[in-house]
Amino acid sequence: MNQHHVFGPVPSRRLGFSLGLDIVPYKTCSFDCVYCQLGQTTNKTIQRREYVSKQVIISELKSYLTEDHDKVDYITFSGSGEPTLNSKIGEMVQEVKRMTDIPVAVLTNGSLLFKKRVRDELRRADLVLPSLDAVTQDVFVRVNRPHNGLRIENIIDGLKKFRKEFDNEIWLEVMLVKGVNDGVGEIEQMAGIINEINPDKIQLNTVVRPPCESFAMPVDANQMRKICKMFGKKAEIITPHARKAMKAYEKGVEKSILTLLERRPCTVEDISNVLGIHRNEVVKYLGVLVDDRRVVKKMHKNQTYFVVSKDEMRSM
Ligand code: SF4
Repeated sequence: MNQHHVFGPVPSRRLGFSLGLDIVPYKTCSFDCVYCQLGQTTNKTIQRREYVSKQVIISELKSYLTEDHDKVDYITFSGSGEPTLNSKIGEMVQEVKRMTDIPVAVLTNGSLLFKKRVRDELRRADLVLPSLDAVTQDVFVRVNRPHNGLRIENIIDGLKKFRKEFDNEIWLEVMLVKGVNDGVGEIEQMAGIINEINPDKIQLNTVVRPPCESFAMPVDANQMRKICKMFGKKAEIITPHARKAMKAYEKGVEKSILTLLERRPCTVEDISNVLGIHRNEVVKYLGVLVDDRRVVKKMHKNQTYFVVSKDEMRSM
């Protein structure tokens, strides 16, 4: 679909089919994570504003909901940066809850949860999925490259407070990057702190999507399993989205992407422009295609391009 701020539904490894609401402009974020799938942050900020108007979001969603669509498991505040930077997120969550019974999820890097106002604004959501990739300032800076006004101890404190105040589920994601935040000392400390935060789930992830920096490498499967044990019973490794559920999409969006890539290598931006699909939606599909080795990425002049793999070519 071509609407500007409502995209998908996209197959999400954590949320099934997720209809995304993109409420901040491209790469407006308090972090610049080395593993970001969207590229480097162009507006690193902690300033909250109504970057995208509530009215625009609600009217786009309204028109989406009046049409007939495939199943949506969650309406998810996410998008091209950090959604809690939008100062109207609380009002938007409330409005969406009034419009539909579809559960509302918020994906956040958790950086602003130390602000009481932000915690209050997220309280009406059905599910909040914050991330925490480090517990020491040094590793925090290396993996998330945060705005210089942010301290990891404040973020951890905000997460603990939010846990006490929020009645619904919190699924905490930890993104592990080889050689950056997977050291035993950091992991042990992180496991202790996350235990104190007490989320409902701890979801371990590693770099499987095309990352922003080519040095951001995945942690291998064995190591992931070892780390998972250190986090205890609530921890799980996020597995690729069920292929069965992707079937409907292979015929549509996925096929269009493959057909385009068969003709020429493209960046995420190229695919988004040519097919009129939201950039985040393109990233999700490419993630699955790369996981399946049907598409491979190639670096050229500091840009990431995607091409159809040789195996896929043979089967096309
Ligand atoms: S991964 Fe999320 S938090 Fe990190 S830079 Fe990208 S949009 Fe921001």
